[in-house]
Amino acid sequence: MLSTTNHSRERAGFKYIYPVISRRSGGLSIGINLNTNNACNWRCIYCQVPNLTRGSAPPVNLEKFRDELHKFMSNVLSGDFYEIEKIPEKLRKIQDIAISGNGEPTTADEFGQIIKIIEGVLADIGLLNEIKCVLITNGSLVNRDYVKEGLERLGAINGEVWFKIDSATPEGIEEINQVSGTELSAINRLNISANYCSTYIQTCVFSFDGELPSNEEKTAYVNLLKEVKTRHIPIKGVLLYGVERPSLLPEAANKIKKLPENWLIDFAEEIKQTGFFVKISA
Ligand code: SF4
Repeated sequence: MLSTTNHSRERAGFKYIYPVISRRSGGLSIGINLNTNNACNWRCIYCQVPNLTRGSAPPVNLEKFRDELHKFMSNVLSGDFYEIEKIPEKLRKIQDIAISGNGEPTTADEFGQIIKIIEGVLADIGLLNEIKCVLITNGSLVNRDYVKEGLERLGAINGEVWFKIDSATPEGIEEINQVSGTELSAINRLNISANYCSTYIQTCVFSFDGELPSNEEKTAYVNLLKEVKTRHIPIKGVLLYGVERPSLLPEAANKIKKLPENWLIDFAEEIKQTGFFVKISA
């Protein structure tokens, strides 16, 4: 049964496509997984990818990807999808296409072509600009030409980027995302993303080993948002997440816990003071 807690990527029997009833989208979301090898260039401490390894997505079979997307969307639309009966009627409408999967999608060299294929399939089935297409990314590679090309196409089809910023300090980034330094600072990468496509910052908050996020971390994060405002980077808002399921990383086993709801509400209030829209997904 599809549910908001069962996100198995293999359920639909396709290689690149999987259906999810998602609390994020509030209904049926079509997931796209390019990282079929469970590889990511980051290793976020709360990551829920099974057997996560460091690396990039393997070469994508674009023809297969197109066929799967076309077939799957057509099947859902016509009600000819083997699990459709199990989905509550009010949740059967496709809410969005989410490019996320088992690793960082922009590590796929074919990323730009993937967006063009999504555009073509949506046009074919008469849903271009009717269904939102969301890229969920750590934003580490947005300065690469093939990623910019994809972001530009995504922007043109009314898409969105959800850009991960979990910490604004080098120590926090190293602890949470387990990555040290990227080619450009988060703020410069955010600027690139926001100028190509509508972009939200997405931030995951949690307690680690019984400790809440520190005041230093919170202050640095709020200061980063103030800088985003000062530099007029056109961010749409902040999506603040609590963890819903346990981390699948062995080094984080049982250490990551959900924060009290009031903590998220108070932090969201602090963020709002910077002038940004905030949505909590606890
Ligand atoms: S960027 Fe996403 S897939 Fe990669 S490690 Fe972080 S949470 Fe996991």
